[in-house]
Amino acid sequence: MSNVLVINSGSSSLKFAVIDPLTEKFFATGLVENIGGEAHLVVKMEGDKVDEITAVPNHQVALELTVKVLEEKKLLENGLKVVGHRVVHGGEFFSDSVIINSKVKTAIESCNELAPLHNPANLEGIEVAQKLFKGVPQVAVFDTAFHQTLPDYAYMYGLPKELYEKKGVRRYGFHGTSHRFVTLQAAKLLGKTRPEVNLVTAHLGNGSSITAVLNGYSVDTTMGLTPMEGIPMGTRSGTIDPGIFMYLHRQMGWTVSEINEVLNKKSGFLGLSGISNDMRTLSEAAVAGNAQASLTIEVFCWSLAKAIASMAVALPSIDALVFTGGIGENSALIREKTLAHLKILNFEVDSGLNLMHGKKEKGIITKEGSTRAMVIPTNEELLIAQDAMNLVS
Ligand code: ADP
Repeated sequence: MSNVLVINSGSSSLKFAVIDPLTEKFFATGLVENIGGEAHLVVKMEGDKVDEITAVPNHQVALELTVKVLEEKKLLENGLKVVGHRVVHGGEFFSDSVIINSKVKTAIESCNELAPLHNPANLEGIEVAQKLFKGVPQVAVFDTAFHQTLPDYAYMYGLPKELYEKKGVRRYGFHGTSHRFVTLQAAKLLGKTRPEVNLVTAHLGNGSSITAVLNGYSVDTTMGLTPMEGIPMGTRSGTIDPGIFMYLHRQMGWTVSEINEVLNKKSGFLGLSGISNDMRTLSEAAVAGNAQASLTIEVFCWSLAKAIASMAVALPSIDALVFTGGIGENSALIREKTLAHLKILNFEVDSGLNLMHGKKEKGIITKEGSTRAMVIPTNEELLIAQDAMNLVS
């Protein structure tokens, strides 16, 4: 019995995977979307797929439905060793993955204010899984944990210190599981141990963050108290002049919530281009001559290059810049444009290797003699499964 169920419970969705962390084999991956209404359940398995629409009133029913399918397909026949949960915010409580007990749940709950959309949903997933898999240990893996090694001068904002002391206002950082996964992979590919690698890791997906990894550990990152900070993303503005907040309030008459909505949901690629929040769509539109799509791509690559250069400040030298996430792994255009802005760091892209997304040469996409850039596909579910297994073995 070595299978792990990995659960990523969102406010109206439940993503899951059944994984053997030792062989790294994924037996099933899936998703229940639109929980609370007519939900869409998709389960993908080797040579098989389940796809159905059905009423799912809550997370408990979503997980029961999932388990039913997994049982029918005989994927839970040998039982589960452990359930691994993705939890977005661990505040300053967790610098590592942990086995869940009542104290851990209380600590997760106390971070609800820091991630009001995510943590309550993550907790719900934990409660439901505990009910359904009685006696099976449950493990929490936090998005923020990898960044708990940031020094104070990197995580403190230039704000009154009481706001940190009383309300926890500081940089926490996110995508930690992805940054940690590619750090471990980069070390392997470079033939080094984790403490021997100095990296800049760029996770570029619908949300994006860039991290400085010194001797294998995060020492700075672009996301902050919330995942809104950093470079422009699918629908989030990323870092902007804080004065814009007051200006918009005065000029547009918007409330705090309305401004938050614009910065979170209507900005970034979507707001700038007026077309889409999706980089693939924008890349196609740019090729077809759409000027706003081209400008959006230019803004993204310029911001990304500046963020990479700023993270490099934390390192004595760079063993590799790692691109990951949907954009990082698949867009040769974004990587090439970004590296072209980074001559100061001696990056020189090898167009042939870049076009193959690093699938030759162990992920490397730069010329010999230049600073190394690599493409490394992320796999957060696998790392959650491995953490979970390690904690119970
Ligand atoms: P999430 O952050 O939700 O996990 P992903 O990591 O899957 O998302 O990244 C999604 C982003 O990756 C989208 O903007 C998508 O358009 C982009 N992407 C995927 N493939 C390509 C591609 N071939 N070229 C450009 N962008 C791509």
